[in-house]
Amino acid sequence: MSQLATPIRKNDNVLVITGKDRGKRGRVLKVLPERNRLIVEGVNIIKRHTKANPGKQVKGGIVEREASLHASNVQLVCPECGVQTRIGRKLLGDGRKVRVCRKCDGVVDK
Ligand SMILES: [Zn+2]
Repeated sequence: MSQLATPIRKNDNVLVITGKDRGKRGRVLKVLPERNRLIVEGVNIIKRHTKANPGKQVKGGIVEREASLHASNVQLVCPECGVQTRIGRKLLGDGRKVRVCRKCDGVVDK
């Protein structure tokens, strides 16, 4: 894994720490590791104009959807202590490598 790769994973809860959606929380819907970007539910909504395509049952209009944002714009919200945190790593006794909260040392990966 490269140094740039985000430790954020799908279904993590994150807090946006910079940009127009700063302060919003959401669940990670998708990680785009090669670009180090994330798609977060309800964050960075863009409007796209779509053309009607009756053959495909598509109505014309404006569709809102999430655009990706850079992984550095968010921080994990720890499921244990509920605080935004940087992510550490820890090797468990059974050999599993897990992500841990730097604030409470709680294990993020179940
Ligand atoms: Zn924590």
